[in-house]
Order: sequence, then C-alpha cells, then structure tokens
Amino acid sequence: MTVQFPLNAPDLRALDKAHHLHPWANFGPFEAKGALVMARGEGCWLWDTEGRRYFDAIGGMWCTNIGLGRREMAEAIADQVQHLAFANSFVDMTNGPAALLAAKLASLAPGDLNRVHFTTGGSDAVDTAYRMVQYYQSVMGRPSKTQMIAREYSYHGSTYISQSIGKRPGDRVPFFRYKEDGIHHLTAPNAYRAPDGMGEAAFCDWLVAEFEAKLAEIGPENVGGFFAEPVQASGGVIVPPAGYLPRMAAICRQHDILFVADEVVTAFGRLGHWFASWEEFGVQPDIITCAKGLTSGYLPLGALIFTDRIWEAMAADGARWFTSGFTYSGHPVACAAALKNIEIIEREDLLGNATRIGTLFEARMKALEALPMVGQVRGRKLMVCVENVADKATKALLPEELDVGTRIADTCEAMGLLVRPMGHLNVMSPPLILTATDVDLIGDTLEAAIRQVADALVREGVR
Ligand code: PMP
Repeated sequence: MTVQFPLNAPDLRALDKAHHLHPWANFGPFEAKGALVMARGEGCWLWDTEGRRYFDAIGGMWCTNIGLGRREMAEAIADQVQHLAFANSFVDMTNGPAALLAAKLASLAPGDLNRVHFTTGGSDAVDTAYRMVQYYQSVMGRPSKTQMIAREYSYHGSTYISQSIGKRPGDRVPFFRYKEDGIHHLTAPNAYRAPDGMGEAAFCDWLVAEFEAKLAEIGPENVGGFFAEPVQASGGVIVPPAGYLPRMAAICRQHDILFVADEVVTAFGRLGHWFASWEEFGVQPDIITCAKGLTSGYLPLGALIFTDRIWEAMAADGARWFTSGFTYSGHPVACAAALKNIEIIEREDLLGNATRIGTLFEARMKALEALPMVGQVRGRKLMVCVENVADKATKALLPEELDVGTRIADTCEAMGLLVRPMGHLNVMSPPLILTATDVDLIGDTLEAAIRQVADALVREGVR
C-alpha cells in the first residue's frame, strides 16, 4: 500500500513546531528538533511523513491494544456517525451504543461492579472517582471521610485532582499547583528499591504496616478512598509484591475505605484479562477506572465501573442528583468503537494471545538483565520496563542530565523501533496482536541500542 501524504513533511513539522503545545512538552529538545510527524498506522507499525517505518512497542500510549488500521473499526465508526453522530446522555437521555456498552462492561467486570459512568478519558474518570468516593461516603453518613490515600510513583492523569492523586517525583514542577491537603502518598511497592535491601515478603509487611500507620495518623474516619493502579504504569511498571494488593484491600474494607483500581492501563488485555485487579491480583475493587484499551485508541473514551452498593447508596440520597458528567460522556460514536473493539478482542482471543505472547515477551526482555547497564527488567506480560543503572551492585543511577532513557529510545528510533523513555527507564506496552517474530525484533533491537549507548558512555568516560 502506498502512503499518501496530505502535505509535505517539512511544512507539517514546521507548523507543528510553531503552533502546537504538545502534552508533556519538553521545550528545549522540542524547540531544537520539533516532532516526528506520523502519517499512517497498521497493526503494530507506524509510518512517518517521510515514509520511514517504525515498530510501535509503546502501543500508542499503552492503548493500541487491537492494533491500528482495522477496516472493521472504521466501518463501525462510520456507520454510527451516519446513524447518530451525537446525542447527549445527560439526566434522562441515552443512546444505543452507550446502553449496550454499559451492559457489556457490567458483564465483564468482576463481582457486583454492574454500574457504569462514562467519561472522555482516564484523567476525568479518576477525577470523577474522587468525587464519587466523597459523594458515597457522605450519603453513607460518613461526611468526614474526604481524604484519599495513593502511592508515590503513581500516575492517575493530568487534571488538577488526578495529578494530585498521582505523584511521580519529576512531575511536581514548581509552576503548577497540586492539591496537597487531604491526599496522602504511601511508598511505591517497588521491591527493586525496597529500603535496606529488604526481601520481597518483608517489604510487603513493611508496606502494609506503613498503610496502617498512616491510617492511625490521619484517623480512618477521615479517609474515604484508596487509589491504586494494579501495576503502576507510568511510574515505572511497578508490579507489587505477592499479596500486597489483597492485604491493602482488606484494610480498606475493615475501615469502609473504597478501593479504586485505576485500570486505565491494565484493563482490556494488557495483562491478559479484561480487568487485572480481580483476575490477576485477586482484589475486588469498589470502583474501576478505565480508558485507553477500551477503544484501543480509535476514539477517546473513559469509564468508571462501580458497585451496585455505591449506586444504591447514591440513589437513596435525598438530593438524587449526581452533579457530574461531560458533554461527551456516553458519546455514541466512541461507545460504538468500544463495542467493536471488545468484539474483536473476544473473537480473536486477544486476551489469550496477550497471556501467551506476553509470557514470551517478558522472558525475552528479562534476558536483557545480562547487559552491564541493565539493573532490572520488570513488568508483566505486555507491560515491561527496563531500568538502566550506572552500577548493578549498588543500583546507583546514571546522572540525570545524561537522560539515558532518551538516548536509548533515540537509538532505537533510528533503527525503526519506538520504546518510551522515562528518565533512566525504557517502557514498552505493545499491542495485544504481538507475534513471536515481533518479540525477537523488539528484543534484538533494544539490546543492540542499549549496547551502543553503553559503549558510547564508556567512550565519553561516564561509565
Ligand atoms: N490513569 C492511569 C493509570 C494512566 O496511565 C493514565 C494515562 N497514562 C491516566 C489515568 C490518564 O488517562 P488520560 O491520559 O486518558 O486522561
């Protein structure tokens, strides 16, 4: 298939550079070189406007689960646009795709998570969960339960509240303000960086004790919700120690604290399940937030899936108004895309593939730990991260200004592979349609790039 370019490439890059403030823009490098302009995508591959081809091991942004360029998706979207491009879902109106999708999500979600509220993405789903927790606690006669507990190195979105619930150290620049009062952060369950070289089981006990101590300090009567990504994604693919999530959930239950599983990344197959909190980790959340893989990135959509208990409590409240929602909540075209996406995941057994190929992918990536600059490869199935270090024994990091993750990612990019740099880390979350050949391609290319950068750092006298 020939690639059609609507405009010539230098124009696009220049226009973009002159006018487009990118999400998470890094002004210095952007002003120096501008952006890579993508023109086309098919399966796991992207083509830029100059016709260069890249294997997208980032999976868009943890989201292109079924792969790009599917005609079936285009047809489902086009059909819905012709039929009913929009109708609002406020108060007492709905549309077919929204109703069908809500029912479908209820059938896929664990336990009595039978109720669905749509948003436009992950950040506003987390924001709404924060509000729903406070609403629920108030109508349950516990109005003091307004405070929330989350973890360091978590990422929950980019709005005021969702970014305040998250806390990746590098994000907290002095020019933005965050809600500091009433949101508390516990230590990230990253066993690689456990204090005092603790083993995994001891670290798990330590984390649970930290949670209990924090509750004792704040008073459990003041805590409404606990927010947790089952695997912390953008904070560095942190897989918690065995037993950690169920133990944290048990403490939540004991104190009437709602467990909010932020499954924006982990739902819809990334870990081989519809939802990871129950199927992978044995935790029954009160609220699940999701987005990304819900439509595999074909259109923006997010959702909260929550229990009958929460619904009934809110509905029994005298006010009876859930005064939250967006113009595009339950957007019929986005919901039609999600329904088709889920149908494709089911028909092609992409959850099964994610488990089979994810296990292979994990093992191939783990082999990179043999390289002198790789301190740890961690993750699960189709979410994996490589942690680059200066010294494997001490786990000391390379100087931040070397930006080793970006150097490796740039080297990969020149070889036709996209991996995501995050400080000293490189992160991957390829589509669920990955094959064994793709696994080799990612493994071999990334290995060559890490070796190349490590050699360059030796030549530069840094390592
Ligand atoms: N929660 C998690 C766990 C995420 O990873 C993200 C996005 N990476 C979000 C929430 C925010 O989602 P969105 O960018 O769709 O607003």
